[in-house]
Amino acid sequence: MVVIVEPALHGLGRYFQQMEQGQQITVLESMQYEWMRVRSFWSFPRNAGVSYLYLARIGFFYTGRVSETCCYSCGQIYREWREGDNPLEIHRRISPHCLHLNDGDARNMPIYADVINQWPAIPWEPLLEEAARPPVDEEPADLPEAGM
Ligand SMILES: [Zn+2]
Repeated sequence: MVVIVEPALHGLGRYFQQMEQGQQITVLESMQYEWMRVRSFWSFPRNAGVSYLYLARIGFFYTGRVSETCCYSCGQIYREWREGDNPLEIHRRISPHCLHLNDGDARNMPIYADVINQWPAIPWEPLLEEAARPPVDEEPADLPEAGM
């Protein structure tokens, strides 16, 4: 029995519930979960020069091909990441009407529930330095606890 404490892992409860009930969930559907997007970056090139945590936050997941990323919401693909890039700006440029970036895509399940109504105006960068290590391919319990 997996016990998920909300809102620390917001949305994953529903994910596990779907799994338990044997519901089929496609890879693309699973990318509606920010946590799954973060996990998709486990083999993302470390020298890409952009934060995979930030990419996941703004909708991208890693397709596994070179540095190719795709947005779960608008489906746009981008693979030209360079050091110093502003991923949010690039996402807006290649997909001005992306639902995730505009009104917010209701399918998105962010890792932290408390960011739902604050996105994207929350300070995110301080978190990046702390978490600037490859995702650990283990139990989700490795996630830092949400400040409650
Ligand atoms: Zn998008």
